[in-house]
Amino acid sequence: MTISAIGDSTSNSTVNADRLWRDLMALADFTEPDRPYTRRSFSCCFLEGRAWIENRFREAGMSVSYDTAANLIGRLEGSEPNLPPIAIGSHSDTVPSGGRFDGILGVLAGLEVIRTLRERNIHTRHPIEIIDFLAEEPSEYGLSCVGSRALSGHLLEHFLPFENSQGETLGQAIARSGGQPDKLFLARRSDLAAFLELHIEQGRVLESSGTDLGIVSSIVGIVRLEIEFLGAADHAGATPFDLRRDALVAAASTISSVRSSGEQFAAAGRGYFIATTGAIQVEPNAANVVPRLARLIVEARAEDAAQLSEFVATIDKASLHAATTAKVERAVFRQLSDSLPAYCDQRLRDHMRMAASDLGLTTLSMASGAGHDSSFVAQVAPIAMVFVPSREGRSHCPEEWTPAQQCANGAAILLETLLRVDADQAFNQSRQKQTQSKELQ
Ligand SMILES: [Zn+2]
Repeated sequence: MTISAIGDSTSNSTVNADRLWRDLMALADFTEPDRPYTRRSFSCCFLEGRAWIENRFREAGMSVSYDTAANLIGRLEGSEPNLPPIAIGSHSDTVPSGGRFDGILGVLAGLEVIRTLRERNIHTRHPIEIIDFLAEEPSEYGLSCVGSRALSGHLLEHFLPFENSQGETLGQAIARSGGQPDKLFLARRSDLAAFLELHIEQGRVLESSGTDLGIVSSIVGIVRLEIEFLGAADHAGATPFDLRRDALVAAASTISSVRSSGEQFAAAGRGYFIATTGAIQVEPNAANVVPRLARLIVEARAEDAAQLSEFVATIDKASLHAATTAKVERAVFRQLSDSLPAYCDQRLRDHMRMAASDLGLTTLSMASGAGHDSSFVAQVAPIAMVFVPSREGRSHCPEEWTPAQQCANGAAILLETLLRVDADQAFNQSRQKQTQSKELQ
């Protein structure tokens, strides 16, 4: 079912672009005043911002609740109460000195979808939920995607004692934000018919190609490695090359391997692959001393999970070789974290593409190089994700910008896709069978 464009000042939109824009700017006011736009999860600004969202959800006719992981959920009932909900969501927290759109657009566009449905007196068969996931960005407690981990059953108990610099635990912070950390298992969902996320691209592919929307094929998996080399600190003037045990030389060679083998992996034709050495620590870090210690953090992101393990094995070998050549010890080779790639559902992607075509919007199929709440949700429900352009690809900074009409395009695609999924009996029947067979297992 397609809703034709309404005659407001903004062309080509089925939603109210001005109203969505006003919401985006209003929520941006909930920031640390001296450091726009900072609304870190669990902070006062964040909780005040959420109270504001909660009120907008209620005004739009939704019932509001917090699950045990303190995800904020607005719900509009459907005409067939037994059907599983279709969910739309993202996150309302920001990084320090972040932007006004990352995550926030996905939540507020969901709100705009609900308002539009109500205004037009459209009753969906399925209940609709708008989810503001808790703490998608790295939190003070050293964990990101807290809420979506919980929803997919991956917020493990051993994360709860993680502390921030004031000694508050993650569990206490979740409780303070409206959750019940001792009952996290209740936050796990297996009942969602589908999950849709709108997000800004945070890159420049859409802008540089002049495309309206990016329909995400998959969200990369991420692996982070810590590698440490130990040599000896000697006088930089008095120690000849053949007697040196220079940890930084081994690190430098490893950095080169990360880049060169990364390029080979990227060219292998197995989907998106990228690798970075983004952090280095050197001791004693003095001009006249041979470096005794060098520590690297290496990160790789890929659509193909097998490629990630192959890359880890390649860097394992390369760093050992680098250590031997530099006559140092490779003291640490440790996987700090990993997350699996997530695949967007083909049928949902088709619905999104057709919805875009009905709206006269151009699309591009692309992988997401950034992690999102959807990555976790994909483990318990079929997901689809759509990007709108980011000006100059800027994100996680105050300059982050997506014009009002492009934000509205994103909300319109959510609405159209939602209506298509709501009407797709075959999709829903196969989804129900899947859920039932999982319940029996
Ligand atoms: Zn985000």
